[in-house]
Amino acid sequence: MKKKLLAPVLLSSAMLIGSIPVNVLAHPMESKEVSHVQAMKEWNERASVPFFVKERSAEKFSSSNSSNALNYLKKNQDKTGIVNPDKQLKVKNVQKDELGMTHVRFSQAINGIPIEGTEVIAHFNKNNEVVTVNGRTNQTLAVENVDTTPSLSKEVALQEAIVSVNAPQELTYEPTAELVVYPFQNKNYIAYKVNVNFMGEDPGNWFVYVDAKSGKVIDKFNGLMHAEENKKTQTGSGRGVNGEHRKLHITRVKEPNSGTKFALADYSHQNLEGIFTYDATADWDTTNDVLYKGNSASFISDYDRAAVDAHYNSEKVYEYYLKEHGRNSLDGEGMAINSYVHMGVDYNNAFWNGSYMAYGDGDGEFFIPLSAGLDVAAHEMTHGVITHTANLAYRNQSGALNESFADVFGALVDDSDWEMGEDIMAPAAKADGVTRLRSLSDPNSVVVSNPERAAFGSGVYPDHMDEYYNMPLNVDNGGVHVNSSITNHAAYLIGQELGREKLGKIYYRAISVYLTSNSNFSDARQALVQSAGDLYGEGSAEVTAVNAGFDAVGIY
Ligand SMILES: [Zn+2]
Repeated sequence: MKKKLLAPVLLSSAMLIGSIPVNVLAHPMESKEVSHVQAMKEWNERASVPFFVKERSAEKFSSSNSSNALNYLKKNQDKTGIVNPDKQLKVKNVQKDELGMTHVRFSQAINGIPIEGTEVIAHFNKNNEVVTVNGRTNQTLAVENVDTTPSLSKEVALQEAIVSVNAPQELTYEPTAELVVYPFQNKNYIAYKVNVNFMGEDPGNWFVYVDAKSGKVIDKFNGLMHAEENKKTQTGSGRGVNGEHRKLHITRVKEPNSGTKFALADYSHQNLEGIFTYDATADWDTTNDVLYKGNSASFISDYDRAAVDAHYNSEKVYEYYLKEHGRNSLDGEGMAINSYVHMGVDYNNAFWNGSYMAYGDGDGEFFIPLSAGLDVAAHEMTHGVITHTANLAYRNQSGALNESFADVFGALVDDSDWEMGEDIMAPAAKADGVTRLRSLSDPNSVVVSNPERAAFGSGVYPDHMDEYYNMPLNVDNGGVHVNSSITNHAAYLIGQELGREKLGKIYYRAISVYLTSNSNFSDARQALVQSAGDLYGEGSAEVTAVNAGFDAVGIY
């Protein structure tokens, strides 16, 4: 399933010996992180301008498709601000939904090369009328000529990127590079966007922007999202971390030397590739890891417990998305759901790395094995859903939204309360008063335990924009796990008014239909209000509840 890959010769093993980071040898640090964050703020304002057009008398088309969406945009350049849309826009995908609406997504492009962070979505109602258009466009390009011819080869860019993130020799999958226009520091660069993915004490799913003219690394961020045979499936059983008896879908496998075994492999769901749980064997190398197997159909040893919960909870989350939202797996197309348990040693985290979930065992002081939390599993799997929908960039407000939606669905699936992580705290942590990770109902009641993060605000999780933590990108990617509590609390308030089911419908619609990679908190409010309007009618009590929830936390 995963290829063993060696990084290029540039990272010779000799250079890796010792603890000196490779990038210090090859590339002296060029600028301080703080000025870099400042620059981010500057370009965001000019190069990623949000708009939301709502038609009062909508124009009817012969059918809902991408060419008619483009026709609409050509006629309405004054409303959207997009000049020459047929030259500037590139179709990404067309999506139909359960209300009969059709959503056409475009990226803004120059010479066919997409501009990072831009996206335009035209929405047809079931009568083929364009009713709304929203998104973000780059408004700096009309006045600037961007030469889109790269001087650098893709291979050189890949090597630069790999060195810049200090990647180990072995990568999880082959790194990818895509040519994009990257607006940064008030300039539009032609750049290779490189994705480098690896495991280790400090695992990474890095996105690195390499200037395709000079070969310099312009910008980078880690998109790793923390918390984080015989195919006949039969029923087995097991005991979870907290002692629960679990019914499991497992598969009997024949092995050449050891005879019949039972694997945590579930092929019982129609049109789903399967749900698989792997044993990471308490290290960071997943290259040779295999499906979690037992000698009988009952998994009751202490070592089994983390695997039993991961397997069981994955199925619960899968069923939630299928039953509540008609979504077949993380990508909506039945992709395999893979989880690794026993990741690292005493590792106090869980993450989605872009292709699978990984759960640490906890150190027994702060956390017990993290797969014990259904909300944790739902959180990590929701990151997977977001990757395949709005794909919210994992930094600053878009990253906080990514975290927040993961928490909201965590609380919707694990519906006994509005707390995150209450089932994974170890006795010592509980004795210290740390009984959960975050609270949607009362964010202020939880202390930000990481002192580096806490220093940027009041020291407790915020529940209002007045308490927003202004954090640089090098601390928690600009506050993704902290400021998420503000929108979390809005969701809780809306849920109190409407109940979990409607909250879930509205949130799922916003993430799958309206939000884009650079959406911020205000965009989220607009997207959720529009979703509530689509589902329950403009001026409905549901729309009022969403507005009230966001008013209460100071997001307008
Ligand atoms: Zn997360």
